[in-house]
Amino acid sequence: MPDAGLLAPCPCSGDWQGIPPLVLFGIAAVGVWLMHRMWRAWRKDGVSRMSKAWKIAIVAALVAVVAIVIINKQRGSSPATDKAGQSAAQTPQPVAGLPRLVDLGSVSCIPCKMMAPILEELKKEYAGKLQVEFIDVNANAEAGAQYGIKLIPTQVFFDASGKERFRHEGFFAKEDILAKWKELGVALSAGAPAATAPTFSRLEPAKADDRPKDAVCSMCDGDINSKTLVVVKSAKGDVRLCGPHCYFILFSCLTEDKTDFEKKISVTDWGDGKAVPLTEALFLYGADEKTGRPTIKAFAAREAAEKERQASGGNILAWNVLQEKELATRCGFCDRVVYPEDAAVVRVEGLYTWGCCSHCALGVAARTGKDIEVHEPDRLTGEMIVVRTASGSVASLEPKTAVAWFGLRQAPDGKFVSAGCFHQGFFVSEDNLKKWVEQNPTETGKAIPIAQALADKMKLSPQQIQKACKIGECAPK
Ligand SMILES: [Zn+2]
Ligand SMILES: [Zn+2]
Repeated sequence: MPDAGLLAPCPCSGDWQGIPPLVLFGIAAVGVWLMHRMWRAWRKDGVSRMSKAWKIAIVAALVAVVAIVIINKQRGSSPATDKAGQSAAQTPQPVAGLPRLVDLGSVSCIPCKMMAPILEELKKEYAGKLQVEFIDVNANAEAGAQYGIKLIPTQVFFDASGKERFRHEGFFAKEDILAKWKELGVALSAGAPAATAPTFSRLEPAKADDRPKDAVCSMCDGDINSKTLVVVKSAKGDVRLCGPHCYFILFSCLTEDKTDFEKKISVTDWGDGKAVPLTEALFLYGADEKTGRPTIKAFAAREAAEKERQASGGNILAWNVLQEKELATRCGFCDRVVYPEDAAVVRVEGLYTWGCCSHCALGVAARTGKDIEVHEPDRLTGEMIVVRTASGSVASLEPKTAVAWFGLRQAPDGKFVSAGCFHQGFFVSEDNLKKWVEQNPTETGKAIPIAQALADKMKLSPQQIQKACKIGECAPK
């Protein structure tokens, strides 16, 4: 870390703060006396015959005049100095999800002072969209050193993910700052007030999940229908899933070797409720009349499958054909199998992909490094929420009141971790979110701005993105 003492003021700044007022006053007094003597000498001898000593005296006198001006300025601005010094000592914490402009300067250097009203204006005009921070490196040398600056003022531009995108040394005009943000692809539109950050959270479930463990799907936490139960044999015991779709989700996010994995799976005959090895079963593949979401029923015998097909429609598929269909549509962020009917739609440069949950949908921006557009229905009402991103920040949000629910669960070590893709969502308002949480008493988590949900994804490394949502990595096995 560079020593704060090494920080030089901007060459154009003229920071005189280091000189004590008494010394300046002394210089001033000597200067006035010299000017008086000079005036007398000039009257006596004329300028042309002025001695070298008098030329030095003229320079000294000019220095004195400058010193007097500075003393007056320091006196006049001392209350402001104290105030600014105080605020600089309390360096604010970065607000997640917002781009940030940090100006490192002092309260006395001239270009630093010229920055102050600009920073104030930016703070007011872009409240909730841009975080503006001033650090007085004289009052807060450590914070200054942390940024490794060479001179003051220096302005550092951070995007919403906290990544430094640009820095500038010396005075920087407001229009140049705004133009730079635009050039960096960070959309800042002044005027419209930003939605206030949501505050709701519930970390203790309103009601304990008292369902027997056997009746809960290990993948989606949904109820298990005994007619569609899927059992995965594992070294740690049987894993019970609510149906073939949850099995394929599990299969798609396994990190272990999948050779012969299908041999560990049994499905349930829709008719008689008996276990059937996955590879020997036939599947009646239909669609829900209202949602179009696939329905899957397993059978051991073709006659039973055919009888059900005549009654309810659909097509009979072998297990490997069903697997191909299921594995064909994936989350654009975590690669999990997903039904488009359940997913957020994500548009990336005119191409479409899916997000298996709202947070994964935002993660597509992190994975691809591109600007995206997310369409995700409110989990309570189905009203559409549309998020557009630009350079990893939220460029527009419709409706503006929309918020994200960050589903969290307490791990055995007491830390709160993501409750997984089935427990996330967007809502058009914090009120809707609260109603949904009320209706789902076992859900725990907190409401966060959608900008923060995006920022959380943008700060992931490529390695972390690769491991996202994988079983054994971030999901319990
Ligand atoms: Zn399930
Ligand atoms: Zn996903």
